Amino acid sequence: MRGAVTAPHTGPSIAAPDMDAAVEALRSRGLRISAARRLVLEALFAADTPISAEQVADGLAGRLPRSDLASVYRNLETLEEVGLVRHFHLGHGPGLYGLTGTGEREYLVCDSCHSVRAVPPPELDRVRSLVKEEFGYEARFSHFPIVGLCADCAREEPSTRIDRRRHQ
Ligand SMILES: [Zn+2]
Ligand SMILES: [Zn+2]
Repeated sequence: MRGAVTAPHTGPSIAAPDMDAAVEALRSRGLRISAARRLVLEALFAADTPISAEQVADGLAGRLPRSDLASVYRNLETLEEVGLVRHFHLGHGPGLYGLTGTGEREYLVCDSCHSVRAVPPPELDRVRSLVKEEFGYEARFSHFPIVGLCADCAREEPSTRIDRRRHQ
């Protein structure tokens, strides 16, 4: 489906601790608080972890009213533009959306056990400056993670570090 992908935004983040603060942030920018938009925010506040647009549309498996997927994407896009929401990708699945609340995070994902590690960006600054030095790239790992083998899996499967596994 075209339009089922939202663009990443890297503007200023707004940490809204609760629904009222989020609504206030939207109001102060002259944005409408439609029922659909409120429902998207409610789903993000209700979820313990970042969730996909499909999960929002599905009302968190029945905990909230269902909504139209296309409208969920549009609202997520707006909320991300404002800085209340950020999304990232952890693999082949859909993008995951979360409230900006805890500050920016970058991700490392294990290809073998699928564990996810979220770290504050300064922890990857040494990697970033090395990439910049060698390739001239300003690397960011907040939209797409660093993918590889976590320390545990690398210990268990040392051969995979040499024999590059085929993409499954
Ligand atoms: Zn994306
Ligand atoms: Zn692992």
